[in-house]
Amino acid sequence: MLEPTDLTTRATEGLRTSFGTQATVVGRAPGRVNLIGEHTDYNAGLVLPVALPHATYAAAAPRTDGVIRIASAQEPQAFTGHVDDLGPQIEGWAAYVAGVLWTMRESGLEVGGLDMFLESSVPLGAGLSSSASVECATAMAALGVNGRALDEQLQHSVVAAGIRAESEVADAPTGGMDQTVAVFAEEGGALLIDFDSGEHRNVPLALGERTILVTDTRVKHQLTDGGYAARRRECEQAAADLGLRSLRQADLEQVETLTDDVVRRRARHIVSEIARVEPTVAALASGDGDEIGRLFAASHASMRDDFEISVPELDLAVATAVDAGADGARMTGGGFGGSIVSIVPTDAVASVTSAIDKAFAAAGHNPPGHLVATPAAGASWSPA
Ligand code: ADP
Ligand code: MG
Repeated sequence: MLEPTDLTTRATEGLRTSFGTQATVVGRAPGRVNLIGEHTDYNAGLVLPVALPHATYAAAAPRTDGVIRIASAQEPQAFTGHVDDLGPQIEGWAAYVAGVLWTMRESGLEVGGLDMFLESSVPLGAGLSSSASVECATAMAALGVNGRALDEQLQHSVVAAGIRAESEVADAPTGGMDQTVAVFAEEGGALLIDFDSGEHRNVPLALGERTILVTDTRVKHQLTDGGYAARRRECEQAAADLGLRSLRQADLEQVETLTDDVVRRRARHIVSEIARVEPTVAALASGDGDEIGRLFAASHASMRDDFEISVPELDLAVATAVDAGADGARMTGGGFGGSIVSIVPTDAVASVTSAIDKAFAAAGHNPPGHLVATPAAGASWSPA
C-alpha cells in the first residue's frame, strides 16, 4: 500500500504535470469496509463500518476565472468545465467529483474555480467505496482552498453533498453509510451508525492479536446494474405490506406473515441483519472470536440465501478463510462481487491469504487482492 506521504506527493506532482499548477491544499478521505449491517442503511437500520488506511488524496489550487479542471491518476480523461455550468448532466467518473462540487454549491457552500488532481489507494469498484472516498476528498479540497476549518455542521454538509452527487449525478443510489464513515470515522475504532435516529458513535475494537483482513475477489460489482435498486424496491414493498415506515420497525414474526416469498426473504435478511449489529459491537469490544464467527457466518448465509447478493467467488473466499483459521468471514458491501471481510488471528493472516489464493487458482478464478484494514480516521484537508 502507498503511504500517505507518497500519495500526497503523487497528487501534488500530478497537479503540476497535468496543469502546471502548484497545489495549495490536499484533501483526503478514506475508503471503508463494513464489518456488519449490509443493505440496512436504506432500511433505517444499523451499520458498523471501519475507515480504511486506503484513501483518496485531492491536491488542489484555486482559480479566479471560475474554470474547473480535474484530472485523476485512476482515469485517463481529464474533466474541464465552468463552475456556473455544473449540474446533474455531468457524466462518467467526473459525476462523482465535479458532481460533488455542484451539490456543495447547491447547498450554499462557496465553490469557485479550481484545478485538482486525484490519487487513490482505494481499489475502484471493489465494494470498498472508492466512490464516497473520491467525493469526500474532493469536498475537503474544495473547502480547503477557501480555508474553511471543519466543524460538525460542515462535515454533515459534506456527507449530504456526497450522497446527492452519487444518487443524482452518478445515478448510483446510495444509503449514506459510505459518506458518513468517510467523514466521521475515528482512528482505531468502527463507526456505529443508526439510520433511524441519524446518530453515530465511535466504537472501540478490542482486536488484540487479531487483524481485519479484506479480500477483493476482483469480481466487479455494478451498482447501476439494477440489483441494488431491485433490493431497495423489495425492501420498500415489505415495509409497505406490513404497514410500517421502514423495516427497522419490523420483527421476525411479522416478516414471516409476508405472503410473497421473495419479499419475505429480503425482509428476513434486513431484520435479522439489523439484529446482528449490536451483538457484533459487543463481541468486538470483548474480543469474543467464537461469537464473531457465529455472527459473521449467519450474516453471510443471510446475504447468500435470503438477500441473494453473493457470487461463487465471495462464497469460496468466505469458506476458505474460515477453514484456514479466520474467526469469522462474510461478504461485505453491496454484493454481486466486490470483497469479503474476515477477522483473523494475526499469526494466521499469511495462511488465510495463501489458502484463498490457492482455492481461487484451483477454481479457475482471477487472483484476488488482500489488504489489511487498520481502522483509520475520517476526511480532512491540510495545506500543501
Ligand atoms: P466502489 O465505491 O465500491 O469502489 P463504485 O462503482 O461505487 O465502486 O464507484 C467507483 C467509481 O467511482 C469509479 O468507476 C469512478 O467513476 C469513481 N472513482 C473512484 N475513485 C476514483 C478516482 N480516484 N478517480 C476518479 N474516479 C474515481
Ligand atoms: Mg461506491
